[in-house]
Amino acid sequence: MSTATTSAGEGKKLSRIERTRNFGICAHIDAGKTTVTERVLYYTGKTYKMGEVHEGTATMDFLEDEQTRGITIQSAATTCPWPKDGVDYICNLIDTPGHVDFTIEVERSMRVLDGAVVVFDGKEGVEAQSETVWRQAERYRVPRICFVNKMDKMGADFNYAFGTIIERLGANPVAVQIPIGASDDFKGIIDLLTRKAYFFSAEELGAKVEEKEIPDDLKDEVEKWRHALVEKAAELDEGLTEKFIMEEEISPDEIMAALRKGTLERKVQPVFCGSALKYIGVQRLLDGVINYLPNPQQVPEVQGTAVDDKEKKITRPHDHEAPFSALVFKVVSDTHGDLTYARVYSGTLEKGSRVLNSANGKREIVSRIFEMHAKDRISRDQAWAGEIVALVGLKNSGTGDTLCAADAPIVLERMEFPEPVISMS
Ligand code: GDP
Repeated sequence: MSTATTSAGEGKKLSRIERTRNFGICAHIDAGKTTVTERVLYYTGKTYKMGEVHEGTATMDFLEDEQTRGITIQSAATTCPWPKDGVDYICNLIDTPGHVDFTIEVERSMRVLDGAVVVFDGKEGVEAQSETVWRQAERYRVPRICFVNKMDKMGADFNYAFGTIIERLGANPVAVQIPIGASDDFKGIIDLLTRKAYFFSAEELGAKVEEKEIPDDLKDEVEKWRHALVEKAAELDEGLTEKFIMEEEISPDEIMAALRKGTLERKVQPVFCGSALKYIGVQRLLDGVINYLPNPQQVPEVQGTAVDDKEKKITRPHDHEAPFSALVFKVVSDTHGDLTYARVYSGTLEKGSRVLNSANGKREIVSRIFEMHAKDRISRDQAWAGEIVALVGLKNSGTGDTLCAADAPIVLERMEFPEPVISMS
């Protein structure tokens, strides 16, 4: 029998929700959103298969695994398993629309995710559309991490790109890694928390990562960035401020915990770098999604209104025992009928159950529940608060509708355009 709490690997026991990250990848057009997404699916598809090695079905060699290369996101949301420190995390990658104009589609995708990766071009830094994306995320209070991509591109300059995040976005970025080299000479990354240098062999598609000493000519640079990182962590956590002043050692775990809290509160944005094209840095970016972006229980409780009184606010806890509520954020035609993508905010949805669509007052039968992966789908008996699933069997539910328990109706979203974006300046 399935439960909301399952074993999460060695030592730690985290609930399924604690292991879940609902995130999106946003970017200025051409910054590399599609390529980063493909790599995320590649690596997580890979690890997913690696998890099945005991069944003798998986190949461990990246180069042999042509099939997973070049897969694009097909789905409004894709579940990407990512093992880290002995824990099987569940990343739900939510597709954010490609266009970044001010539309309800973009707004809605921002609403269902708990965190975002914002991708920048390593040569251009912040571009006009990055500003739009950033404001939309700000408006929906979405915690963010940054990925400075294309470090292999001619003219790529991490310092410049980092500077534009401060100047043009008015953000508070903090580098958690820096590149080793740039353009044709881009070789790898240095993890500033641990001061470890990782050199990649691009020919091996990121499969070959060598840990080496920090090159001599980068040592001063590393200390400068690390000092900025520790200082930022100390600013974010009172407990660390004193240690910082007293020049006591602050551990990588302490730095990470301070940054995680700061990211959740949207006071800081950890910055990663790499080259999605050359398969460099995306695995560490996925680690960053786990380390710094919140799980669904860490974001504020969802608010809705009563069906007959939009002034009456209702709050629902992130609890699988609370009354069920979910928001439909996309409906996609499929060979087996419509797939209705929904984010469950509270309660538990059972396969075969009847739910109320509070937008039109109709009852719906959820005949099947699926977890959507890049290449297959997993049938589920239940879906819990914090999860993103695709439902089959719904006949009268569209994007933006709320599904809820008939005896506890709620409207999570009114079909109205929000107020205009407030200027950041
Ligand atoms: P999107 O418009 O943000 O989805 O960007 P794409 O992923 O389609 O990438 C735009 C172009 O940049 C394509 O030609 C990619 O091959 C290229 N590109 C993406 N990532 C990198 C990278 O890390 N390095 C370099 N040199 N080119 C990249």
